[in-house]
Amino acid sequence: MNMTFQKATPILQNLEQAGYEAYFVGGSVRDSILGKDIADIDIATSATPEEIKTIFDRTIDVGIEHGTIIVLYEGVPYEVTTFRTESEYVDYRRPSEVQFIRSLDEDLQRRDFTMNAIALNKDGRFIDPYGGVQAIKDKIIQTVGKAEERFTEDALRMMRALRFHSQLQFEIEIHTYEALKTKGSLLTHIAVERKLAEFNKLLIGRNRKRALKCLTETGLYLYLPDLSSRLDQLLKLEKYDYTELSLEEMWVLLLQVFEMTEDGRKAFLRSWRLPGKKAKYINQLSEWLEYRLTAKFNHISLYQAGEQAAISANRLYEVITGQKSDQQAYELTAAYGQLPITDRSHLNVSGNDLIHWFNLPAGPWIKEELDRVEKAVVTREIENTKHAIREWLL
Ligand code: ATP
Ligand code: MG
Repeated sequence: MNMTFQKATPILQNLEQAGYEAYFVGGSVRDSILGKDIADIDIATSATPEEIKTIFDRTIDVGIEHGTIIVLYEGVPYEVTTFRTESEYVDYRRPSEVQFIRSLDEDLQRRDFTMNAIALNKDGRFIDPYGGVQAIKDKIIQTVGKAEERFTEDALRMMRALRFHSQLQFEIEIHTYEALKTKGSLLTHIAVERKLAEFNKLLIGRNRKRALKCLTETGLYLYLPDLSSRLDQLLKLEKYDYTELSLEEMWVLLLQVFEMTEDGRKAFLRSWRLPGKKAKYINQLSEWLEYRLTAKFNHISLYQAGEQAAISANRLYEVITGQKSDQQAYELTAAYGQLPITDRSHLNVSGNDLIHWFNLPAGPWIKEELDRVEKAVVTREIENTKHAIREWLL
């Protein structure tokens, strides 16, 4: 068994010694079968949250109503969740309340795809009632049970199918795919935040290009924020090679193919509920891309953009023009490293100095002068010393 699982095996043993069943489940089991590194281990058990708490010394309540307790074992946090069903789905969403059960099979049955419905016991044996191991070997995404029903219960699963298609490069089984085409409209019932989380993962998967194509082919795009009227623009993505872009760069690419104004961009990012800081950065990056499409970075623009945004804008330039940039990332890094200052606070002059030197009352002129000094220092017209700045100004 994988080392990461081995380290967590005592948790399963402790639960079993106390008379309960316990297994590794979910994405970590799937990823270990794929030979991938695994990050978060999820454990499912027949013990209730209260029972889990009596067995382990160090636990944290995170979502008791969903049956999840974090167990801290040798400094590592593990999510331990009571077997549960979600028998009552309301409004095409997972319910806010769940029912605890004592049967593993029923717990596996409520999971979305066969590849995610495998349990692994402490001896390394799989409990795999839905053929998940074979699905992983065949690289197939298939719902547990009838796809239409499963997507009707919880429409988010449709987004999850596409994000796994992108992330894992698995094919979507035909009935599951057909159901994506017929059940898409149910996505309108799902909170944007949940859709965003899956869409973000889709955007950075290896297979992102095919997954985005599926979004239009299945019609799911019709039920995602601010995308329904953008079929032609979404299809334009086909001609670009964007598999290496970061998440923020992917959002900028979308904004670019949508040919939006600044207000349009902001509204689009808001409709997806992107956090304010992220949205702001994406917007700025869009502007630096506009800049890069007409000019190379020089000292001033590199200083204003910052190293990361300049490199990102440059990479997007390459994707959009389909040409290798004549400004390499390492050149931008080197040029940035040689800037005399990288922030206005590094200037060796203050507003007070100016008031003193010019013997004038404070006013908007100070910012204007500081802007001029900043530019002159960045372009090395003057040295960043009080003396040189004073000479240059007076
Ligand atoms: P990742 O590696 O990206 O975390 P994951 O498969 O672990 O992928 P999670 O969202 O962490 O995905 O969910 C953990 C497990 O919970 C899944 O493997 C699946 O068994 C189950 N699950 C998650 N979301 C749903 C859902 N909407 N419907 C049914 N089962 C789900
Ligand atoms: Mg997970």
